[in-house]
Amino acid sequence: MMYTSTRDGKVRVPSAAAIANGISPDGGLYVPQSIPQIDRAFIKKLAAMDYEHRAAEILSLYLTDFSYDELLDYACKAYGGGKFSSKDRAPVRSLGENAYVLELWRGPTCAFKDMALQILPFLLTASCRKIGSDKTRVILVATSGDTGKAALEGFRDVPGTRILVFYPCDGVSNMQKLQMATQEGANVGVAAIRGNFDDAQNGVKAIFTNASIKDAFDKNGCAFSSANSINWGRLVPQIVYYFSAYCDLMNKGAIEPGDKINFTVPTGNFGDILAAWYAAAMGLPVNRLICASNANNVLTDFLETGVYDRNRRFYTTCSPSMDILISSNLERLLFMLAGYDDARVREWFGCLAENGKYTVGTDVMKRINGVFEQGYCDDKQTKNTISRIFRERNYLCDTHTGVAFNVYYQYRARTGDSTPTVIASTASPFKFPAAVLDAIKYAGTLEGTYDDEFAAIRQLEQATGISAPVQLSSLEGREPRFTGVYDREEMSRVVLDMLGIG
Ligand SMILES: *Cc1c(COP(=O)(O)O)cnc(C)c1O
Repeated sequence: MMYTSTRDGKVRVPSAAAIANGISPDGGLYVPQSIPQIDRAFIKKLAAMDYEHRAAEILSLYLTDFSYDELLDYACKAYGGGKFSSKDRAPVRSLGENAYVLELWRGPTCAFKDMALQILPFLLTASCRKIGSDKTRVILVATSGDTGKAALEGFRDVPGTRILVFYPCDGVSNMQKLQMATQEGANVGVAAIRGNFDDAQNGVKAIFTNASIKDAFDKNGCAFSSANSINWGRLVPQIVYYFSAYCDLMNKGAIEPGDKINFTVPTGNFGDILAAWYAAAMGLPVNRLICASNANNVLTDFLETGVYDRNRRFYTTCSPSMDILISSNLERLLFMLAGYDDARVREWFGCLAENGKYTVGTDVMKRINGVFEQGYCDDKQTKNTISRIFRERNYLCDTHTGVAFNVYYQYRARTGDSTPTVIASTASPFKFPAAVLDAIKYAGTLEGTYDDEFAAIRQLEQATGISAPVQLSSLEGREPRFTGVYDREEMSRVVLDMLGIG
């Protein structure tokens, strides 16, 4: 299986090169040239396996320059060894009325990013070996909060790698900040950027093509890699848990083999839901993919109208990992749905770069509307939903998952569709304790008055009888290791300083 670029259809590289490079030299994203197809027997086989074997099966369909045994070894190292707090790794729980929640936050940093970022370091270092590169891999990450910590944790002290994380200083929660600022490891660096997530992400993209940095890297045996969800090695492990959820529903007797299900996914950069789309395109029986957004509803509007317009107010919400106005992975979907037409993708994303806006044709929209549904809600609605689920179902969810539930209920009320639906739960509620506490205990009146997140954790534990993950509660009182705050223009200097070159 070879990979091509969304901006240059002539590109042909094996998966190892796609993963090692992260982004194609033409600025496009790598996508597989075709989508592997599975049948019912394949799903039946998966259903009898544990998560690690399910992962090896799915990954080996896409990463054909890796052996099955290699992939199984990485999956066992990534998801085994007591790093996940559930033996199922990504457990599915029934909430009644054909609604199921897929908990993707049982990993070391309590957010769904662990599902990919625990295995990416193995895929990335092996990919570099396979393409014959012995350069130090410098991983630059722009994060709206959860990616940064998960990437730092995944790559810490991995030989041959350095990892630098940039986050918007006012765009992540205190807990997320502290998680990153206290990161251990000899090869890590963390910097806060004045601006929002898009500023941090655009700054990182600019560094990738900066000539003086390239020069310093060449002289010092360094090369860039990406751990953002634009890297195919981030995306492909995420396909696994959609299959896994389907298998678990079959094993529970909740569905019969071949039954279609819905997925509702709280969406920011469009990576998680794109993985669901790949699963469906491979033949996993899917009815609708419901894309849930917060007040930054650029995707809701796009999926409804075909007009992507980032020229709008940016909101800082209580679901910060979805506070994004440029959803990078949408480019992959559009390329696929436009029949691998790189010229059209160049035109759309040229318009986006120039005017912050593009419009796709009715052919593409027809394909989008064939599978996607969309909706959004604001913070107040999110908190109401968290409170309702806690009262009615005795289930505590985080703010991102709250958005997903709200949009799912909207969808269900609008359509009457009672197809079994899996809601992707993307973070532990204790990762956003003040907002969740506000939702279940103070009916939304706590807003902005509650900065001590550890006091919030304790109150939340008391109010719910649920214990916080120790990875979070043990951060209390820890001295931050990284405290620098920089302007976007300083980012390339920060990179060279952290690496001690140039
Ligand atoms: C990253 C993240 C999301 C959004 O996922 P995308 O792949 O960017 O769409 C949702 N919820 C949480 C908690 C996240 O960390």
